[in-house]
Amino acid sequence: MNTTAHANTPAEPPPETTEPYYRLARSDDPLTVTSRTLNLTHLAMVEQSTPAPDDLVPDHVSKIAVRFGISKVVAANYADAGLMLAAFPRIHELFRSGAFTIRHIQQITEAVQAVAPEKRAHVEEGILKALSPTRPNQHVPTPRAAYNKVKTVVGNRDVLATPHDKAPPKDTNAPELFFDRGQNETTAITLIVPRLRGVELHKAVKSAATKRGCSMGEAFLAMLDQSITTEVTLNLYKAVTPQPRGVFAEDHWLSEAASCEWLKKVTHLAAPGYTATEGYQATELLRASVTGRDGHCRFPGCDVPGYACDVDHVHRHADGGPTSTANMHLLCRTHHRLKTAGTWDVALHADGTEVWTSHGDGHQVVTTPDGPLARENFAERGVRKARVVRQLNAEIMQRNEGEPPY
Ligand SMILES: [Zn+2]
Repeated sequence: MNTTAHANTPAEPPPETTEPYYRLARSDDPLTVTSRTLNLTHLAMVEQSTPAPDDLVPDHVSKIAVRFGISKVVAANYADAGLMLAAFPRIHELFRSGAFTIRHIQQITEAVQAVAPEKRAHVEEGILKALSPTRPNQHVPTPRAAYNKVKTVVGNRDVLATPHDKAPPKDTNAPELFFDRGQNETTAITLIVPRLRGVELHKAVKSAATKRGCSMGEAFLAMLDQSITTEVTLNLYKAVTPQPRGVFAEDHWLSEAASCEWLKKVTHLAAPGYTATEGYQATELLRASVTGRDGHCRFPGCDVPGYACDVDHVHRHADGGPTSTANMHLLCRTHHRLKTAGTWDVALHADGTEVWTSHGDGHQVVTTPDGPLARENFAERGVRKARVVRQLNAEIMQRNEGEPPY
């Protein structure tokens, strides 16, 4: 196995744009209007489910469950979401655009549940920046992506309130294997490993399947029989500056312990950025640069991680499209086929923004890159710089036994 670390070089800010907005909040396309109406109806249900501080939980929940015709569990989720909106009025205002689904509201409710009252305004400001559109006609982030953004904001602004995901990260734990005999003549086998080890296996099985021209399952069994061997490259992204300290591995940030462990295995170093090659096949560096910029499939609303995606030529190679970072992006197999079939057109801009146009009806939507190498905007950079300064100040104060850092 090769493990390659990539330096994260500072990038230029994106060009000025006109006023940013989510497509879902503005478009008058009838399907979008229906979707927005549904989102606003769910928001109204949340608002009407909000309990008063002295309401008893079982009484309140059973009352709204009956009146909305929903289960008590769902009613309790609505009530929790209502309390969140009451505590974060500017986030409430953002949801009034109709761009966010009930799933977004629930995920964000979960992510902010432990924020201290005195830190709410500071956290709320960060969440607004993270969830507000940055381009005109932009696609709204998926609920999972929105949760991850909010989780990062909470972690940076009220560290004690950092939400814990349902399955805690298992960076270093021993693998577990379960055999589940099904009703019929099959057995389901579940292997639980730390995430990056899982990515490594995924890449290995995918490469073996391609080599053999067989399914992923057949390839996996062939690897167990040792009748096939394969080599994979894992991409780790680490900033050349002291901050941030962590390592971004393929599709997630590693814990500090796992970062140290995996950095020891690095065999190649490379500095990604604009890169191009003559032939059709992308080089490893080109692939790593595109994956580091895009993070996941670039189709609107899709978050299939980079390692499971194809690196696709935006303009077909056969039509003269170069094999370069400026003409390549990540697409999952499904969306790769959709693009090849000509259902959608896409344009990739220099700042990594993509404009997707639906063939036939001409609807357009904008997606932005989400990887560790994506160019940050001034607002994000301001927050990052402030964080660096605060951390540095905290360290200096600790060294000076509580004296201010000046
Ligand atoms: Zn996709």
